Amino acid sequence: MWTLFWSALAHATGLTAPVHPTRMAISLDVDPAADSFHGRVSIALEIEQPLASFALYAEELELETISIARRAERRTLEPRRIDDARVELMAEAPLEAGAWTLEIAYVGPVHRQPYGLYRFEVDGQPYLVTQLEADEARTAWPCFDEPRFKVPHAFEVTAPEGLAVISNGIVRARRTAGGRTTHTFRETPPIPTYGAALAVGDYVALPVAGTSVPATIWSPRGAEGDLSLVADAIVDALPRLERWFGIRYPYRKLDWILVPSFAFGAMENPAAVVMTAEYLPKVGEGTVRERREIAEIVSHELAHMWFGNLVTLEWWDDLWLNEAFADWLGDRFADERYPEVRGEVREVRQLYNMLNDDGVATERPIRTPVDPKHVFETTNLGAAYRKGSALLDATLELLGEDTLRKGLRRYLNTHAHGNAVASDLFAALTRVSGTDIGAFLGPYLDRAGGPRIAVRRSGDAFTLEQSRYWRHPGEGTTAEEPWPVPVRFRIGHADGTTSVETRWLRDASAVVTLEDAVWIMPQADAIGYYTFALDDDLLSALLARIGALSARERMAVVRSLELEADAGRRTAAQQLELVDAFAAERDPTILAQLVAIVGQVRMVRFAHDPAMDRLADEYVQRRLRPWLDRIGLERTGTETADVEELRRALLEVLGLAGDEAALSYARELTRRALEDPASVPPERLDWALASTAREGDPAMAERLLALADETAVPSLRSSLLDAAAAVRHPTVRAEALARALRPDTAYQDMGPLLGGALGATEPFDDAGIERDLEWVFTHADTLEERMPPVHRGRLVTLAKTACDVSRADRVAAFFAEPARRSVGVDRRVAELLDETRACAAQRAVHLPSLVRYLQTQP
Ligand SMILES: [Zn+2]
Repeated sequence: MWTLFWSALAHATGLTAPVHPTRMAISLDVDPAADSFHGRVSIALEIEQPLASFALYAEELELETISIARRAERRTLEPRRIDDARVELMAEAPLEAGAWTLEIAYVGPVHRQPYGLYRFEVDGQPYLVTQLEADEARTAWPCFDEPRFKVPHAFEVTAPEGLAVISNGIVRARRTAGGRTTHTFRETPPIPTYGAALAVGDYVALPVAGTSVPATIWSPRGAEGDLSLVADAIVDALPRLERWFGIRYPYRKLDWILVPSFAFGAMENPAAVVMTAEYLPKVGEGTVRERREIAEIVSHELAHMWFGNLVTLEWWDDLWLNEAFADWLGDRFADERYPEVRGEVREVRQLYNMLNDDGVATERPIRTPVDPKHVFETTNLGAAYRKGSALLDATLELLGEDTLRKGLRRYLNTHAHGNAVASDLFAALTRVSGTDIGAFLGPYLDRAGGPRIAVRRSGDAFTLEQSRYWRHPGEGTTAEEPWPVPVRFRIGHADGTTSVETRWLRDASAVVTLEDAVWIMPQADAIGYYTFALDDDLLSALLARIGALSARERMAVVRSLELEADAGRRTAAQQLELVDAFAAERDPTILAQLVAIVGQVRMVRFAHDPAMDRLADEYVQRRLRPWLDRIGLERTGTETADVEELRRALLEVLGLAGDEAALSYARELTRRALEDPASVPPERLDWALASTAREGDPAMAERLLALADETAVPSLRSSLLDAAAAVRHPTVRAEALARALRPDTAYQDMGPLLGGALGATEPFDDAGIERDLEWVFTHADTLEERMPPVHRGRLVTLAKTACDVSRADRVAAFFAEPARRSVGVDRRVAELLDETRACAAQRAVHLPSLVRYLQTQP
């Protein structure tokens, strides 16, 4: 049934003529200081049947000459613009079928915002780099900018003498004349247009030893910092991935380019990865968390060399074929390397966050129609990563590691240097396992939402019922088709042992028999894309034996109950009492989650009753102060990295509740940070600065700005700018917001400035929220100009609604103006309305119960 659906899903691509490219030669003449560049592309084409015209993508490009040739014949083509993105090229007489070469000379833009070919500056020196995924290669050169057109690329780049020029291929020759050097690169294996890459500037090379191909890290001069963590991560991950896949790294070299200004975390261009320098640690060798993050991102991008680059998705609706696998492998490798970060427990939190995101009406399936002109605005990026990754965990559980790897290897070898669709992957996995994987994964990929499994007991008989999980209390009355759910039960027996049994739930409900069960937990090892709810007796029995579960399972119990509360099926009081049921809990990662539950009493501030605020603050301090006392303010030599995470969670919630010990500690750390930011434990720096700066004065803001200008470390600069902008003083706020809008402000500084200034407003401060909203409305057009097109939808997220539906309606009306609308904006507005409605409904349910609960506390 699902296979039928696959073939029926039409690929709404933008190019339909019977012509396809077979290789690309791109010749550019660039100067990092200039606002434009000259280019010439020579595209080898196969015309499949005679035609008089065909289209390709060319956006923001000024086409100068266009001709098409074969053998001795050369013809001029006339361009006709179809829309912003596409140009139709017309011949006077039909072109015969066969091989042709299309030549276009053009002038292209050098962007200031991070997309296409763009410029950033370090120490006053201009640098160029590209970011072409998903649909921006067309702003750098005319091309058949869709991933199915995967062809070899040959670059020739002329740039001022002395500058480094890096691309996907290996340099074949360099020739210097008149102060300019032409770098000729070898042709690459077939690569998708979105993966082509170029970097030009005074980048400094750090060779990496110990990899199967030559590897080099590049960083702008003066911003090199300590790159050893990146080098270590590459040396560790590359051979491990080669072993895991059983396939060698598919390219002849690996360049890793660090840039301060980037629209994403990192980009897996074949053999020329670009990564934001924001990942480099704030201080010294960084925290374990920071080191794990680098290991994760490096493993993620390298995993793409196989998933995405060696085998490329045919069309963007299968983005999960790239991202789910890279996300999943990146996490696994980072967890193995840094087990002390407890990534495997934190991933359970992520799983439930995804289920929660999946529980609103505007959420879309992973495989959803994609607009070829607005790819990232119309794909479901978040689900492609997180839901996809959770589904791979479940697939691994079904097939076993050896079979899964065998199937993946088969898939990769079959489609090496080509393209694939989901059914190709399913076919390979089904072939090696005998299990119909498409029948399992298809319904999750093609439908939004995730299942909620309710379990009732009657003797040895357990009734399972599935429905879609809806976050909005009261929503979800429509019947949904059931998902195929392998429900994995951990069963506690009378003799104290436990066992795991899987029961498939393929219909809306089923009755299963589980023998000798004293208690059950219906998501053993927290694997499976579903949330669950137990009847009262089963829940009490489980909570009474909670210590018999693994940390992952305990996290799943906590998070599943939080989802029940979000959906209005548990009261706020029941949630707070849950913390008592975990009285014996000592796992720092789970305790941090319980801290967040206690912290939710802050919701009471929306009642605008100072007496209630006081009760809530006292409650938080009474509950959590002993937890902080138990672990202490300062790190001990023997503690693990997850204790620090708990400490930070405690300090944050206690500080917000006015706990004097936490606040004076924050002031002390800030005092030290204003002398020397490196003297403060980096894990606590942001918290300390944020909580103190808010009460600070213009002098403090000035000092923070000066420190930001002194540091060469991007992540530290961002923290300092954010804190400076968060000082709650009208002049400081106004200056920070004005600075965010200035054309000479670097793109990477905008986020912290806006985040600090607008984030300092409390959600229950109605006047402040209105003032911020007014500011966003006034400056929306300027902000939009400063953002790369793919991020313009984010403008909507600056407009905070604080769960007020009428305010959300005003935001929607503002962005409904034709001049402000775009695909990305429309989507974000729909999400904002959805989120606000769910949040308002939750507050209506929980606030009264919370008030009653606090009033009855001793
Ligand atoms: Zn990725």
